[in-house]
Amino acid sequence: MTTLSPEEDAVSRGWKALSTLLVTAGRHKDSVPKEGSFVNPPLHRGSTVIYPSVAAMRDTEGLQYEHHTLYGAMGSPNQHELEKVVALIEGGSHSQVVSSGLTACTLPLLAFLSAGDHCLLIDSIYGPTKRFSEKVMKKFGVEVSYYPADISVAEIKKYLQPNTKVIFTESPGSHTFEIQDISALSKLAHQHHIKLFLDNTWGIGVFKPFEHGVDVSVQALTKYANGHSDLVLGAITVNNDADWHLLRDTAIALGEVAGSDACWLTLRGLRTLGARLEKQSISALKIAQWLQEQPEVERVLHPALPSCYGHEIWKRDFSGASSVFTIVFKPSITSQQVIDMIETLKFFSIGASWGGYESLVLLTDGEIYRNFQNQLLTGSACRLQIGLEDHQDIINDLNNAFTAIWRS
Ligand SMILES: *Cc1c(COP(=O)(O)O)cnc(C)c1O
Repeated sequence: MTTLSPEEDAVSRGWKALSTLLVTAGRHKDSVPKEGSFVNPPLHRGSTVIYPSVAAMRDTEGLQYEHHTLYGAMGSPNQHELEKVVALIEGGSHSQVVSSGLTACTLPLLAFLSAGDHCLLIDSIYGPTKRFSEKVMKKFGVEVSYYPADISVAEIKKYLQPNTKVIFTESPGSHTFEIQDISALSKLAHQHHIKLFLDNTWGIGVFKPFEHGVDVSVQALTKYANGHSDLVLGAITVNNDADWHLLRDTAIALGEVAGSDACWLTLRGLRTLGARLEKQSISALKIAQWLQEQPEVERVLHPALPSCYGHEIWKRDFSGASSVFTIVFKPSITSQQVIDMIETLKFFSIGASWGGYESLVLLTDGEIYRNFQNQLLTGSACRLQIGLEDHQDIINDLNNAFTAIWRS
């Protein structure tokens, strides 16, 4: 066993602690039939559910809240199994699995807001959530505004309105990785009878939203949960019956359902999340630490580095880190040089999204839309997602590209 530095321990501890739960959650060794069965559950495809009698069919009334399969457009056994496992990981009472991570962001907005209400979003929220709020929620009479990602909870208070019903935050923020004080924010929200939504995709498994007072936690299961870049899927988790019924009723009303195949694959992916992320989090930290020593790099935006906004809160509230972060280059480095550098890399594919087993790079210049001036983005920037490759190969790859583009 190699010994970990305190920093490496801090990014990987939570993944190690989660591994046994991930392997065992929702599996019932005691209910294996006498004649035996496969390790993984069967894949169920279907629309109609058939019953032996009319009375048996009528007896299903109310079971839509019990993860019971009633009709294909309301979820399959695979979807419901995954819902139970996600609720365990998030620490909530119930989860609704939906067709994409973006749907996991939009469905609760539709469920919890009405015409005349106000929704306050963090400026660093996942971009398409902003787009939905602007294009759809406003059309239905919901007021939408934003607060900067780098202000205290006392300052956020000034952005509340008498009709604010939802605060939608993300921690760390998309692209810029600001960490929020969720416990303090939930206290503020609840004092004003506001629901706090959190996009917890980055923090899956290592941030427990309901222990910090979150009401609705969103996951893009597309990312680390599935972990193989071969599907899109999302989940929304709540922590009481009233919120669950509202969410579930809205999902059914919309005809929102996740495909069985995607649910089956994600359930399989989740079994190895702990092992994958224990390695990926340490690799990402080593690479981020190497990067911040390079003369062309202005700063690395990674919550486990002291230079990241809210680092102290990350240390207090998170039991680990994932493996996606942003590099901001010195103002002397041009966007074209960064493009050339990216195109020289051998082990990184160019592309959006993250959470797979492979390393990815995304030029973020011109991709990040902010309503407020962001102090962190002072130069050309790109986002790295670190996969399961050996970290030294990745560092050598970056070093070679840096040498080829601006050191020769
Ligand atoms: C990717 C992502 C989503 C959306 O997930 P998709 O499955 O790609 O629709 C939502 N929130 C965050 C923070 C994400 O990174």
